[in-house]
Parts: sequence; C-alpha cells; structure tokens
Amino acid sequence: MTRWEAVIGLEIHVQLATQSKIFSAASTAFGAEPNTQACAVDLGLPGVLPVLNHEAVRMAVMFGLATDAAIAQRSIFARKNYFYPDLPKGYQISQYELPIVEGGQLEIALQDKGHKVIGITRAHLEEDAGKSLHEEFDDLTGVDLNRAGTPLIEIVSEPDMRSAKEAIAYMKKIHSIVRYLGISDGNMQEGSFRCDANVSVRQAGQETLGTRTETKNLNSFRFVERAIDFEIDRQIAVLEDGGEIVQETRLYDASKGITRPMRSKEHANDYRYFPDPDLLPVVIEPEMIEAIRQQLPELPSEKASRFCKQYGLDTHDAENLSISREVGEYFERTVQDTDAEAKQVANWIVGELTGALNQDNIDITESPVSSSMLACLLDRIEDGTISGKIAKDVFRLMWMGEGDADQIIESQGLTQITDGSEIEKLVDQVLQDNPAQVEQFRSGKDKVFGFFVGQVMKLSKGKANPKQVNSLLRQKLQ
Ligand code: ADP
Ligand code: MG
Repeated sequence: MTRWEAVIGLEIHVQLATQSKIFSAASTAFGAEPNTQACAVDLGLPGVLPVLNHEAVRMAVMFGLATDAAIAQRSIFARKNYFYPDLPKGYQISQYELPIVEGGQLEIALQDKGHKVIGITRAHLEEDAGKSLHEEFDDLTGVDLNRAGTPLIEIVSEPDMRSAKEAIAYMKKIHSIVRYLGISDGNMQEGSFRCDANVSVRQAGQETLGTRTETKNLNSFRFVERAIDFEIDRQIAVLEDGGEIVQETRLYDASKGITRPMRSKEHANDYRYFPDPDLLPVVIEPEMIEAIRQQLPELPSEKASRFCKQYGLDTHDAENLSISREVGEYFERTVQDTDAEAKQVANWIVGELTGALNQDNIDITESPVSSSMLACLLDRIEDGTISGKIAKDVFRLMWMGEGDADQIIESQGLTQITDGSEIEKLVDQVLQDNPAQVEQFRSGKDKVFGFFVGQVMKLSKGKANPKQVNSLLRQKLQ
C-alpha cells in the first residue's frame, strides 16, 4: 500500500479595517444599501484617477513586521485583467512582481505538542471586487459594488502544511495576528477573512510536489478543514485508481460537504498583468518602517511567552489565552480580582468558559459570566465555601443568568459542609449501610476506599468537603 502525504498552501484574503477604500474616498462600512458606496473611481468611470490610501499601506507594513517579513521599500501596483460582472473596470488593481511584503514566517502549535514554522511567501495589497447576488433574484444576478475597491492584503503561504489541522492552525494564527494588530476585524461571516486552499498529495518521501487543486473562497475554519480533507481523500482515490489530478479551481459545496470543479486553472499570463500607469510606485522610507515597528502591539506569541513567565502557565494554556487580545485581557483581569492561583484561572477559562462560549457560539466579549463574576466564583472555592465540583454547577447557573456566585450559593444552599461533626455523621451512615464493603476494605482491598468517598459525597449532594471526608474515612476504617 502506498503511503500518501498531503501538501497544502493557503492564500488568505484579509479586508483591511480602513475607513475608506484603497483608491477612493468611498466608505468601506459593511451592510449599506447595495451600490450606495461605490464612487466614480470604484466604478472605473472615464477620467478618474486612483489615489492610494496611506492607511492601507501602513497596515500592510504592520502585518509584514509582525511576521518577520521583509518590507519592500519600493513596490508597484499592476492591473490584473479579467472580465466579470462584479469588476466594472475590467481589471483588478493588485501587486504582482513587486509585492509590499515578502518572505515572512510564523509558528504554529502542533496537536501532538511541538511547533512548526510556516513560511509566508508574500503578502500584497489589492482591491476587492464587488459581489454578485444570485439568491434574491429569479433567473437574474444582482451586482452590488459596495465592496469594490475595499483594501485587501492577500497573504500567500509556502506549501508547508501537511494536514487540514495544520492549515487551520496556520489560518487561526493569521486571524489572531491581524486582529491583534487591529488591521482587520477578521469577520468571516461578512467576508473580511477568507481563504483559498491549494491541495496536492504525493507519495511519502517524494521530493517533487504533486499536481494541486485550488478550492476558492472558503469563509469559515470548519469549511476550510472539510474542504481540505475532502480534497485529500478525493485525490488519493483518483491516483490509486490509476487516474491523474487535473490542475483546476474548485468550489466547496457546504451543504454536501464536497468540492466541485469550477474552471480549469488560469495562469498568470491569462491575466495580462502590467504595471498600472495611473499609480506611482509605493516608496516606503526606512524611517516610516521604524516608526510603525515602534507602534506594534504585543503579539500573540509574545503574550504567550509573557504569560508563561509571569504567571507560571504551561505553553498550551498560555497559547490558548493569547488567542485574542480580549481573551488575554479577560484572563489578566480575573487574576487581578481573585485570590486563586493564575493556573486555576487559566484552567477555568480554557476549560469551562471556552466550552460554554463555543457551545453558544459567542465571543468572550459577549460572555454572560464577566471576569469579576468568575473571580468571585474562584474565591469561593479558594476560601472553602464550595468545592470545585459544585463550582461547575454554580458556573452553569451564572451562565444562565441566575445571578452571581454568592447569590447562587445562597439561594441554592450550596455552601460546602466543613463542620466535622456533620461530616462524621455522613461517614458513619455510609459505613453502617455498607458492611460488606467495610469487610472487604479491612481484608486488604484498598480500592473500595474510593467507593466510600463517592457514597459520602453523594449523600451530602456533593457539598461535603472532600479533604475532610477522606481523612475521616481513613480514621474510621483503620
Ligand atoms: P497561483 O499564483 O497560480 O495561485 P502560486 O504559485 O502563487 O500560484 O501558489 C499559490 C498557493 O499554492 C501558494 O500558497 C502555494 O504555497 C500553493 N501551492 C503551490 N503549489 C502547490 C502544490 N503542488 N501543492 C499544494 N500547494 C501548492
Ligand atoms: Mg493564486
């Protein structure tokens, strides 16, 4: 049997969070009435000239610096010519031969521990096209040009990824970086962050790359993962059947979970790229690059290593807490407000809170349990009012809007039983009810001990202090 290896390279389109478009003063705000935000420049009417948005350049440079890339001191815009109804000029202004950012890299965490460096070939500035709307019109297609001219950076990776999981880790890292930098809202539903996945397979150990397909316009992490896995399986099946992979552009059908051919692969010379005569080269002085470097915020990997050092967290937790600025801030606010250990705070955020956020599909900024509510809950574990187990129930109730930890503990009567004589009663009861197990324990079967602990906890409805239960049981049984 042949062993196959997948090879994946991603092209990620990121909408930049500028107020106005890349070559015009029209607004980039999402959600306006169709065709109310496309000006003469975006429409390519005769006699207009594009003027480059300084802010878009600054944002592209920020991205380059954040990924250890080289910033081109001179880059040029080119016209990429093709015909499509949502492209009124008949060409897209992009960068071709001299992109603004080249040769970056970033590190992703692998599932089975360890890290891997993924190369970034280039990132170039370009304008977005408009949108074709098929759904609301019977047998017709609507064209909305509000998006035409919105600034993008297209980030092209090296073919360095070997599984869908690695590709997702890379994509999430890019997503995290652009949001940290504040250069994009990264909103995938609104199309601010989308991805084309290039996939090929080859026999393990083979040097040369196999023929690839490119699946276009994937706008969720889940779709990217499914589309890649589907492509890998499909390509292996074709090759094992003695067939050949056709280099082509494919589309992902989310309802069926499959990819379908869209068109045969276009080549660079199909686009008749040439330098845009309306735009000057972009010249960036070293001083400007330095000034931008000075203003870079703390980035995800820097935050993660600070969390390890400052709070004694392990890498896994530190990375999870550095996913976004907001998660990092939530963590640090909670640590500030509680007497519990930072490690404990990390466990609750990475475990309980993240689980609940994912389940309800909401962002941490919308969490019904605020950082101060979590801090108070952890204090109640810390001061022995409730056990860690009961705390999870309290957390669920806080999540459901039943009040803060103290209110819930009070109204539900959840206070931990720490009164020794009360626990003793429970212990006696359990020993009395289970004479056979007591016999077993005394004849050397240590394992039954856990059974007794469980019974006492159950009898106390989870409220007995587990430490005291343990030591009392030991005393009584010996
Ligand atoms: P194009 O300009 O035609 O889209 P590029 O050479 O710029 O082609 O590559 C686009 C993306 O495809 C890059 O992310 C690159 O890493 C990836 N890629 C190129 N060849 C392969 C391959 N054989 N298998 C998987 N990915 C590939
Ligand atoms: Mg491409």
